[in-house]
Amino acid sequence: MLKIEHLGIAVKQLNNSIPLFEQLLNTPCYKTEEVASEGVSTAFFQTGGAKIELLEATNEASPIAKFIAKKGEGIHHIAFEVENIEAEMKRLQALGFELLNEIPKNGADNKLVCFLHPKTTNGVLVELCQEKR
Ligand code: ZN
Repeated sequence: MLKIEHLGIAVKQLNNSIPLFEQLLNTPCYKTEEVASEGVSTAFFQTGGAKIELLEATNEASPIAKFIAKKGEGIHHIAFEVENIEAEMKRLQALGFELLNEIPKNGADNKLVCFLHPKTTNGVLVELCQEKR
């Protein structure tokens, strides 16, 4: 793993949370992007080393809608940047970590992503991400 690339935070409404995080971080949101396949709208902030990704559900079936219904707003996942996502997925799978997707998916912010099931990672939803080349 190269570094923590971003922290994902589930929010009810980007309209409310973008200005809140702009104030909190004292930096403007530099990008918003919908990932239709995941049922989310995202908003990104730069904070030194790692980014903050806000996630709002765009439909009821979205994993973010389910997360908020169960736990409320808050930290949703940690994303680690990797050099070669397929190699890292193989390495972790061989060690017994459960992958939520067997092949890398298109994520926001020009990334290939894979999530690890929280039941195999001490309750933390982990995202692997690799810059698309
Ligand atoms: Zn993420």
